[in-house]
Amino acid sequence: MDALKKKIRTIPDFPKSGIMFRDITTLLKDGDGFHDAADALLARYRPMQIDLVAGIESRGFIIGGVLAYELSVGFVPLRKKGKLPAKTASASYELEYGTDTIEAHVDAICPGNRVLLVDDLIATGGTAAAACELIEKLGGEIVECAFIVELPELQGRQRLGARPVFTLVSFEGE
Ligand code: AMP
Repeated sequence: MDALKKKIRTIPDFPKSGIMFRDITTLLKDGDGFHDAADALLARYRPMQIDLVAGIESRGFIIGGVLAYELSVGFVPLRKKGKLPAKTASASYELEYGTDTIEAHVDAICPGNRVLLVDDLIATGGTAAAACELIEKLGGEIVECAFIVELPELQGRQRLGARPVFTLVSFEGE
């Protein structure tokens, strides 16, 4: 996992002062790196019974799409407000200033579906917690929340309560 970590670029002070932006585009453009990251997640999820992969817009679509394809299950996009064309359900989460909302089609997840939630990174966990609430509102059961990167200092795992969390690499004070 150290090799994967080295392929993730850090941009200090993006999008604003004080934020260390962990940029996975450098991992994605590296064929071996992208493959190894996907394989590490697949090794974990192949033995689990998963009905659907749900990815958070937008970087969660990239890795989530690969996992859904390889697991031969469907993919559900969780999108920012106003992007999905059919009837939606939503969940909101706090930002530093104001709130944001994510949406899913109400028919995207059926009661009892076992769902793997995927995003590139967990920071405070606010986005993922809202995604979990949305999935659960539709009757889905979260099998696990998977991320390439974790920022443990921001305690995102705690925000997700008892839901299992799996991450490939973590950045602490670097
Ligand atoms: P949070 O809701 O605080 O867990 O933030 C997670 C979402 O914001 C993910 O979709 C990430 O892509 C993005 N994000 C938050 N902090 C960072 C960071 N330091 N570097 C890259 N992406 C970030």
